[in-house]
Amino acid sequence: MKNIVKKYGDGFPAVNDISIDVADGEFVILVGPSGCGKSTLLRMIVGLEDITSGDMMIGDRRVNDLAPRERNLAMVFQNYALYPHLTVYENIAFPLRLAKADDATVDEKVRAASKTLELDEHLDRKPANLSGGQRQRVAMGRAIVRDADAFLFDEPLSNLDAKLRGQMRSEISRLQKKLGITTVYVTHDQTEAMTLGDRVAVLKRGILQQLATPRELYSNP
Ligand code: ADP
Ligand code: ADP
Repeated sequence: MKNIVKKYGDGFPAVNDISIDVADGEFVILVGPSGCGKSTLLRMIVGLEDITSGDMMIGDRRVNDLAPRERNLAMVFQNYALYPHLTVYENIAFPLRLAKADDATVDEKVRAASKTLELDEHLDRKPANLSGGQRQRVAMGRAIVRDADAFLFDEPLSNLDAKLRGQMRSEISRLQKKLGITTVYVTHDQTEAMTLGDRVAVLKRGILQQLATPRELYSNP
């Protein structure tokens, strides 16, 4: 992200000249209070929101004008957007079916992804019969089979109780390291920010206030 600005109407910019360079495989958290601009920034990365000015780059590609489907990113939503009538297998396979992949390719990719995500024993289940953590992994599986260049999370844990949130936090962290996939994660929760990411971007009223490792933030809050 280079000098990214978002203005809605004439008011104060929702995102005000933000530059963040996310390294390949890195896990970056966008954190800040409600209204600081973090969802707007995430939506501009994915392509769901127009960018007023600045350059959004993926690798050496400028993607400002690319549609979401052309950006090859995978957004993991709060409710995971799983299809309730489809099995785990078919939920993970879904993007490949859309892309008209042949059955052998689908099978190979779905099995590889479900093995990595430790879902191989649950392939015949429906989402209603899964735990929250397993559902999250199905959502990630969908992203993996598409070979997405990055995961984007928008407050995925905010509807969960404290205990489950703690479990899922360590699970997301573990899987992200295992997959080595570049990740940008939006939260207003300071614990998540300080425990999940390699680096934390602290936003306030659309401005990037700090961009540092959790360790640096602890010693220099
Ligand atoms: P956060 O995700 O940190 O809660 P948002 O990115 O949702 O913050 O919002 C940042 C600012 O932009 C807020 O002041 C919000 O009111 C404003 N905003 C967000 N979406 C819109 C919109 N569609 N139209 C006008 N203003 C918006
Ligand atoms: P359609 O628009 O054809 O009904 P979808 O809306 O499911 O199909 O997906 C269209 C495109 O949107 C996909 O090819 C993909 O690039 C993008 N897309 C779908 N789901 C996600 C997601 N969770 N995160 C990011 N991009 C997505």
